[in-house]
Formats: sequence, C-alpha cells, structure tokens
Amino acid sequence: MPELPEIWNLAQQMNETLSNKTIAIVDVRQEKCLNLPLDLFQQGLENRTLGTTTAKGKWVFTKISPDQNLLLNLGMGGLVLYLDPEQAKKPPRYRLKFVFSDRSALAIDFSWFGYVHLVGSLAEHAMKASLGPSPLEEDFTWDRFRQILAGRKGILKSVLLDQHAISGIGNVYVQDILFRARLHPLRKIPSLDEGEQRRLYQAIRQELQNAVDLGGLIYERDLFNHPGRFQQFQVGYHEGKPCPVCGSIIVKIRTSSTSSYICPTCQT
Ligand SMILES: [Zn+2]
Repeated sequence: MPELPEIWNLAQQMNETLSNKTIAIVDVRQEKCLNLPLDLFQQGLENRTLGTTTAKGKWVFTKISPDQNLLLNLGMGGLVLYLDPEQAKKPPRYRLKFVFSDRSALAIDFSWFGYVHLVGSLAEHAMKASLGPSPLEEDFTWDRFRQILAGRKGILKSVLLDQHAISGIGNVYVQDILFRARLHPLRKIPSLDEGEQRRLYQAIRQELQNAVDLGGLIYERDLFNHPGRFQQFQVGYHEGKPCPVCGSIIVKIRTSSTSSYICPTCQT
C-alpha cells in the first residue's frame, strides 16, 4: 500500500509531467470510484486544463482550471501511469484513463478500490478537510507536532497511524520511525517526555524524507512504471534477525489491529 513517500513522489512527477495538458477524453471503467454521476464527471473535466499537483497524506490533488480540483486516492494500492502517445495506443489495464489533446494519457488502476473525485473547493471535500498535517509539509513544525500530541491519551503507534492526527504514515514506514526514535509502539502518549517527543518528530521527518529521496518502496511503481529504491529496513519485517544497533533479536508483536517489529532493547 503506498504511503506518503510514494504519494509525494507521484504528485511531484504528475506536476512536472501533466501540468498544462488539456483533457480530451475521460474513459471510466469503474464508475463507483467517482463521487459524481459519470456524465457530470466527464463534463467537468473534458476540455479542461490540468494545473499544479500536490500531495497530502495519501491523497493526490490536481487543480483543474478555472475552479475545480481532482482528487486521487489509491486505497490499498494501484498504479498511476503516464503514457506517451505511442504507449497510449496500447494502454495497460486501467479503471480510469484520461487522454490528453496531445494524445498522451494518464492510466489509473487500483489493486482493490480507490477514489477519483472532482470537487469545487477543497474545503467541501470531507475526507480531505479532516486530514492532519503531512510530515513533509512546511506547516508540520515542532510546535504543531507538540500540539497534536498534547490532547491525546492513546498509544503511540495508533496516533501515528491516525490520518486525522498526522496524514501519510502507514504500517510500513511506522516500523523504522519508531526504531529511529527508540520508542516502543505501545507507549502511552502522555508518558513521552519532551526529549522523546523531539526524537519522534525528527525520526518521522528523517525517515519519510529518506524514503522520498530513494523514490519510495522497491515494490511500488512511479508514474513512469519505475520501482522505488527503498528496501533497507532497520527492524521492519526483520523478525528473528539481529538489531543493527545492539544485536538483540528483533521480535514481532501485536499492537491493536496491526503487527509491529521492534528491538526489545533499543525501543522502550
Ligand atoms: Zn537494538
């Protein structure tokens, strides 16, 4: 499942590649991923020009001139591919495809189910409006992070995965974020002192930025169908192997509805 680094990279690539392209044809094979009836969705997009694309959490946002926004969420996973005019003649499997006036195309496929929504202002989109800040955005400051933690009583890992608190972290990257911060996933938020909170803040930013720099996970694909280069977890998915810092054996534990991989010595 793509998390913030993959979505962040995808949005950047879409911004560089698709800005100023005009949509000629909207071809939808999975109507239930839309928020509008098909004819209204098509009317709203055909002959419109794409503006800038950005990411927040697991959502990709593209401005559609003059006053609309296209929102994309890959759900459990999927593939968003740019096709040059030659590739667009024989597109891969897709649920939704935009063909542009220059005959290039964008093909979107979901491994299970995703969303492609067209809205006016972003504020009217309930899912977007309720998202917490994304750790790679400028407004994810140390003060903001402290405020997010201040009102919470739950366990650490649940808060990190709560998209209303912080958007974009999932069960993959959270493993090494917690290891980097030397914190146990079951710690209660009020028990974290300021030093621990600072370590956690730094770990979130560093871990996600590192993954962005590597183009995301090796088993996810970008806009040009290239795999990411991030594959070296510290403790994530390394059950039974030695901790790279202290040599203790990494264990897999149950944390509410998810699994966690931890070094029982380093993470307290
Ligand atoms: Zn260790």
